[in-house]
Amino acid sequence: MEPRAMVIRGGEVVSSEGAGRADVLIRGERIEAVGAVGHVADAEVVDAGGQLVIPGGVDVHTHFDMDAGAVRSADDFATGTIAAACGGTTTVVDFATAYRGETAAEGLAAWHAKAAGKAVVDYGFHMTLTDLRRPAGDVVAEMGEAGVTSFKLYMTYRDRLMVSDDTIAEIMRAAEPSGALVCLHCEDDNTLEDRRRRALAAGRTAPRWHAWSRPPGAEASAVARAVRMAEDAGAPLYVVHLSSGPALEEVRRARERGVAVFAETCPQYLYLSAERYEEAPAAAARYVCAPPLRDPHHAEELWEGLRAGHLQVVATDHCPFTAGDRARGLGGSGWDDFTGIPGGLPGVETRLALIYQKVAEGLLTRQQWVGLCCTTPAKLFGLHPAKGELAPGADADVVVFDPALELPLNAARLHMNVDYSPYEGVVVRGWPSLVLSRGRAVARAGQPVSGPAEGRFLRRQAGAAHDL
Ligand SMILES: [Zn+2]
Repeated sequence: MEPRAMVIRGGEVVSSEGAGRADVLIRGERIEAVGAVGHVADAEVVDAGGQLVIPGGVDVHTHFDMDAGAVRSADDFATGTIAAACGGTTTVVDFATAYRGETAAEGLAAWHAKAAGKAVVDYGFHMTLTDLRRPAGDVVAEMGEAGVTSFKLYMTYRDRLMVSDDTIAEIMRAAEPSGALVCLHCEDDNTLEDRRRRALAAGRTAPRWHAWSRPPGAEASAVARAVRMAEDAGAPLYVVHLSSGPALEEVRRARERGVAVFAETCPQYLYLSAERYEEAPAAAARYVCAPPLRDPHHAEELWEGLRAGHLQVVATDHCPFTAGDRARGLGGSGWDDFTGIPGGLPGVETRLALIYQKVAEGLLTRQQWVGLCCTTPAKLFGLHPAKGELAPGADADVVVFDPALELPLNAARLHMNVDYSPYEGVVVRGWPSLVLSRGRAVARAGQPVSGPAEGRFLRRQAGAAHDL
């Protein structure tokens, strides 16, 4: 029997390179045709007139079901992928972690166990390495065979995550020949350690001192160091959650020299600022994340970086904690100072719509929006053209986006498993009216479609960093 067909008719199909009126024919899990599609017997027809039709969103930075001391990130692979689907994201790449004393294979197995049978959209994993127990080349090869073609390394958190510059360089050199991509959390640990000590010695314990202890200069100097290491290794580099103007400047200058450096930023750094840390400590604690929220002029520079192409990806660093878990703290019995507050913000559901607001305002083009949120992350992380593209043969991960649909970004209206929204009271105009994951409807008008959790693990190929 032929698999069931669907025609999405009369929408404005937007890719990272162009836009135009077209129909999309889907058969089973795949896109069969994009263009003028005639009558198709027995096909379900979706009228997309007046709406945008785009590839499903690709969020390459989530932390579902992640341990953080005595608490854990509030979304698991069930609630997190349901929320992703409601907001138009149909692929997530989460950070599997091999903690010190664990092998990469053990870390990967732990994340497979968290996700299996729970995800409603497709997912992949990066591998976070916190030490090297074997030659880097062996680890890279083993992970490549397991479908994991990107590595995350931390330049800070010396107590449990940081690796030395030697280790970073070794992994970069090992990754390069296979096309694996090294992703770095760039903050200079010495600066952070020194500031943290000074703040606490002076009795400065409130959340605002979290931001003071992680200044933009510490991010910029770490990016500069990372760029030098990448250049030396001849390897591409991906900077995660870039948050500040000076760090962006380092990326821009490196790219102008022809270094293969890519950087993502996140909606929180574009829409929120350090003013949040001036609220009462319990409220301010909800905005603790790393890097921290910055003064407002950084957001302006980041928007300009997106517009001008110096930043290539918007991802979320989705890592929410409930108000109760914030109060419990990393130790479980309440935090005494900012170092005990679990850090991270919700965002996997609101990314597409938040970035679209700047399309509506005319700062970004629709093509740039699709490139930043769908196509470029798919290309960099070895998911393209199955993901991030509406083309014959691609997975039928499709978002019909209604530019007139309004939604208040209030916690009560969203599906992330967290009891506050950083955007409470903000009303966005533009939201997905229909979201398909491999041809199945997983959300309609911002509400989940109930059904079995059919998200699959994506065995990724090497990405295309050298070609972008
Ligand atoms: Zn992260």
